[in-house]
Amino acid sequence: MAKISINLSTGSVQKEDIIVGIDLGTTNSLIAFINPEGNPQVINDTGKGVLVPSIIHFHPDGSLVVGNEAKGFLVADPQNTVFSVKRLLGRSYHDVEPHKDYFSYKIIDNDTESLVKIKVGDAFYTPIELSGLILKELKERAEHALKTSVNRAVITVPAYFNDSQRQATRDAGKLAGLDVLRIVNEPTAASLAYGIGLNPDEEKTIAVYDLGGGTFDVSILKIQNGIFEVLATNGDTFLGGDDFDQAILNYWIDENKLDRNLIFKDQKLFQAIRLKAEEAKIALSSQNIFNDFVNDIPCAITKLKFEELIANKVKQTIMCCQNALQDASITTSEIQEVVMVGGSTRTPLVKKEVSAFFNRTAHDQINPDEVVALGAALQADILAGNRKDILLLDVTPLSLGIETMGGLMDVIIPRNAKVPSKAGRQYTTSIDGQVNMKISVYQGERDLVKENRKLAEFDLKGIPSMPAGYPKVDINFILNADGILKIEAVELRSGVKQEVQVKPTYGLTDQEVEQMLLDSIENAKEDVSQRMLIEARTEGEQMVYTVERFLEKNSKYVSPRETNDAMTHLEELKQTLKTGDKDQILKSIDFVNEFTRPFAERLMDMAISTSMRGKTIE
Ligand code: ADP
Ligand code: MG
Repeated sequence: MAKISINLSTGSVQKEDIIVGIDLGTTNSLIAFINPEGNPQVINDTGKGVLVPSIIHFHPDGSLVVGNEAKGFLVADPQNTVFSVKRLLGRSYHDVEPHKDYFSYKIIDNDTESLVKIKVGDAFYTPIELSGLILKELKERAEHALKTSVNRAVITVPAYFNDSQRQATRDAGKLAGLDVLRIVNEPTAASLAYGIGLNPDEEKTIAVYDLGGGTFDVSILKIQNGIFEVLATNGDTFLGGDDFDQAILNYWIDENKLDRNLIFKDQKLFQAIRLKAEEAKIALSSQNIFNDFVNDIPCAITKLKFEELIANKVKQTIMCCQNALQDASITTSEIQEVVMVGGSTRTPLVKKEVSAFFNRTAHDQINPDEVVALGAALQADILAGNRKDILLLDVTPLSLGIETMGGLMDVIIPRNAKVPSKAGRQYTTSIDGQVNMKISVYQGERDLVKENRKLAEFDLKGIPSMPAGYPKVDINFILNADGILKIEAVELRSGVKQEVQVKPTYGLTDQEVEQMLLDSIENAKEDVSQRMLIEARTEGEQMVYTVERFLEKNSKYVSPRETNDAMTHLEELKQTLKTGDKDQILKSIDFVNEFTRPFAERLMDMAISTSMRGKTIE
């Protein structure tokens, strides 16, 4: 039930805001809330549909559309239509390079470890901003449909998402003006929607099979004392319902003896047949035959034929299930529940094969494309303390993290994490020969450490002198059941180690916590923009440092004229770093990167030919 609270000093009646659950998907996203009857329910804003395709189209005038409307531009205007942004979230170019042909829009190919960026027209976007735009659309639809403001959310991510992908999702939420109560694993949300894991006395091992539009994953979860532990995940990030559509499309091309190249060239026709193939696939989930035309091309297929076409793909997913069980060191007989997630599990063959493999009927009573959002809404409601029947486990009231370059807060244990909790991350040095590393520990939700509460500070001393980026410093946060936080720092190459202990809640009142949370919500948008500006600056400074060093050391591979021009461009970059905004800085970095790329390539070629020469016998 939405709570009504009365402000005693003013006498005004305030309707408390509604908390939502969001499934931010690769193909589709959706938002759910707890309805006045206390049940989770997906939001359908004025007939626009429950599923919002995770697609953004940018018009030349700078305006944009999200969802079904944007989907129409996938073929008409591919460079300005961004899809599958979830695949880029929290990733570097290095991570996504193997799949770069998959994306039709421009991904900036700075060969760095920093997070990937996308260029649309003249503007640069991070995947965080783009995901933020999808979340904003969802938030607005919910506000419109529910006629109230929506400020707090639980957002789901795949179980295999790493720290950086989770943090990126959190930041996307912040940018959309949402206070992200918790990032929850998709399989956890799905099982909660089925009521599995709600009772803290229950102990269970379950499998969650998730086949979406373009990705497949299976998770083995162990539920104990209300805690969901991921025992293993497996899957294929390029296997999903899109492959089923593709199989039908290929079949029609063959059946009608169409010229593949000709069809592909006529993008309008191609897209029309592709969409018809998806329509056929969906129809075959509930009927035995599909019969239609695109222009005068017959598009017919039987369920039997369709199942023959996709049999291998489905088998592949079953092999992943087998691998996951093996990694978790358990057998199918130990799996007590199987939960189906993702639109593609509506295909009867998928249901059949999964149930056969696990030797039990898989749960599919809840719409598989809605189940994650519904579970997220339930989790949000629990976290908000609205479910008196469910015990809320001890959680950390504020995020815990350390200071990184530019005075930024790097969260290691996020707010609302269960206690006890353990998390860590690896860092490195930014300067050649750096032998000390200052570690400052903070508590709070703001992006700049200066706005947060400092808990401790210490030096990790005696790191052997190495080039920048070589030392590997693991920082671990271990928060025990008594609320004592142990911070461990260890340089892995040398074994140099240092640790301290603090009690984060010491001297902290409830009012202070509340105030810190309020401040962070109020400043969320500016905080994230500031973070992105500082990150761009840091990246630019690193680039200046690297290029200057490169020019110094490798003068024989670079002509004096090139050196001169490079220095001029570096000066321009330095100036932009001082005065420019984020986009100007990114543009300038991209320019220097393009200009110096041939130098590095030349050096690589030289290195390769030298090493080959080394191998020849004279
Ligand atoms: P994601 O989690 O990747 O964002 P979804 O769970 O929304 O994606 O799944 C989208 C996929 O589900 C699409 O390939 C879509 O064609 C497919 N799908 C939706 N409904 C059906 C259906 N009735 N039968 C088979 N496939 C379906
Ligand atoms: Mg999904």
